[in-house]
Amino acid sequence: MKKVALVFVLAVFVPSLVLAWLAVRSLRDQQFLLERQQSLLYQGVADAAAKSIQDALQGYEQDFTTRVNGLLRDRGVEEAAKSFDSLLRRDWPLAQVGFALTLTGDLLSPTPFDSPEARKFCSDNGRFLADRESVEVYLNPKQTLLNAAVQNPAAQPSPSVQNESLNENNRFPTSRSQQQRKVIPQQQSSSFQQIVSPQADLQQNLSRIAASEAEFRQLIGEDTEGALARFVDNKLNVLFWCRPLLTPSKPVAEAGKTPGKGAPPADPQLIFGAQLSLSRLVEGLRPLVQPGEAALRSEICVALLDDTARPVALSHSDFHAIWKRPFVATEIGEVLPHWEVAVYLLDPAKLMRSARVLTLTLGLLIAVLVLAIGVGSWLIVADLSRQLTLARQKTDFVSNVSHELKTPLTSIRMFSELLAEGRVTDASKQSAYLGIITAETARLTRLINNVLDFARIERGEKKYNFERCDVATVARETADSYRPHLEANGFRFDCELPAGPVLVRGDRDALAQVIVNLLSNAEKYSDRRKEVALRVTLHTAPLPHVEVKVLDRGVGVPRGREEKIFEKFYRAHDSLNSGIQGSGLGLTLARQIARAHGGDVVYEPREGGGSCFSLRLPVMAA
Ligand code: ADP
Repeated sequence: MKKVALVFVLAVFVPSLVLAWLAVRSLRDQQFLLERQQSLLYQGVADAAAKSIQDALQGYEQDFTTRVNGLLRDRGVEEAAKSFDSLLRRDWPLAQVGFALTLTGDLLSPTPFDSPEARKFCSDNGRFLADRESVEVYLNPKQTLLNAAVQNPAAQPSPSVQNESLNENNRFPTSRSQQQRKVIPQQQSSSFQQIVSPQADLQQNLSRIAASEAEFRQLIGEDTEGALARFVDNKLNVLFWCRPLLTPSKPVAEAGKTPGKGAPPADPQLIFGAQLSLSRLVEGLRPLVQPGEAALRSEICVALLDDTARPVALSHSDFHAIWKRPFVATEIGEVLPHWEVAVYLLDPAKLMRSARVLTLTLGLLIAVLVLAIGVGSWLIVADLSRQLTLARQKTDFVSNVSHELKTPLTSIRMFSELLAEGRVTDASKQSAYLGIITAETARLTRLINNVLDFARIERGEKKYNFERCDVATVARETADSYRPHLEANGFRFDCELPAGPVLVRGDRDALAQVIVNLLSNAEKYSDRRKEVALRVTLHTAPLPHVEVKVLDRGVGVPRGREEKIFEKFYRAHDSLNSGIQGSGLGLTLARQIARAHGGDVVYEPREGGGSCFSLRLPVMAA
């Protein structure tokens, strides 16, 4: 039995547990994959928005150059240079301050007296533009790096590579410094970084935008236009600058040249520039801060964060979040250093919720599966154990019956041989021997009847001859036929029977068989107190019924087995331990017969020791 259970555990239960564990693991992987896909999708949104902002900034830069050239063409370089601030502000709304300076560092426009903005501009940038101090600036990479490297972020060199290339160019003798990002995306860093090198996520969230310290002239080199950004008192100043492409007498159209990088400047001695109004710049960029696809509008909010991680433009105006902790974010670039496009989940709990629902569903499925396997295993093992017990009981039954048959047969043979040989001459002895032969024959008959009846009942072939019968008479006749046997074995046998008839609808022989089985058990399981009683009593409640009680003062039924003794082949006192012979069928048969009559046989311990078996039958209405 233990072996079967072990095989079952090893062959079914353990593998199913392993399968369940694998399923849980694969669920976790699936979940991770889903999250990853989602983060890549949103990272794509942030990257695209950052790219379109970069493009817009590039467009503004070109627009600035075009306008400067237009102004110079209309006004002449010298006149335009003198009043460049007011001319540019009138012509180009993005300009907060316009400036013109010579390569020797003379600021031609503005003067500190033009406007409060001009005064601030002069005090902030005067020394820097005049090359009298070197400052930390963020330079548009197209001025410092190979174009290919900038166009394709995947080819963008690491900060150390950048330093090397800069030093090769020998444009910036000073080092470039990298800072921490102001935001910490929950899904760290850009999608590119995550794919190429997951370890990059772990590198303390460094910004890929680095500042270079240099003087203005060093920074612009030989380029014709550009943008640079610097922080003055922690406030961002974005400057666009260009060299005029026209000689005062020769317009660019006539020159037939396309303005652009590398074109020889017509007046390389002058530089025109503008400090951008950030508020107006943001207004221009606002339409670009959108989730892209309309379907994503209900899922995410896109924000443009400034260098203090404060939102300056939002796709959902009434949205609030911990701005420093977006789901994903992308830096815009050197023109707006430390500005980021950040994506926030409108319902951050949704991801968790769907993950939880998924986990719960699969967890539940696995639990149900394991439970089903567990219950199934238990049922199979229990059934197996039942079958094994039954098989053992059947084997016991065969040996018990063989023994029960053998004992009376031996007696019968022995005494009949004695009588046949004529060796016993004493008449009283002869009649005693004959009595024994009769009793043993009756015992044999009873046993064989029990076995045959049990087999018939099992096959559903047992036929009862139901008729009106008087239970009192059946009890009396049975008691009378059994009394000599009991008394011969030293028993005191008391009978209490009603005076009048007690009518039931029943099979006389079957009922007699029940009473004989009970009396035989009372005799078998009696110890030293050899007292057996038969009582027939009539009851009216709960329904009118008759009770035939067989009582003894024997060993009684062990506690807890009161119901089991009615199971087929079950013996509470086996032959080995008690020395009492039996087949384990007597009570089974008694109960089956009683139930076929609409009644029952029940056991209760007898007060003062011993057993009390009651056959209860419904009585017929008079
Ligand atoms: P058996 O042939 O073993 O007596 P039964 O079906 O008649 O089979 O009884 C089943 C079991 O019930 C017995 O083995 C015995 O343990 C218990 N039993 C039956 N009658 C008595 C009784 N009068 N006193 C004590 N135990 C009894």
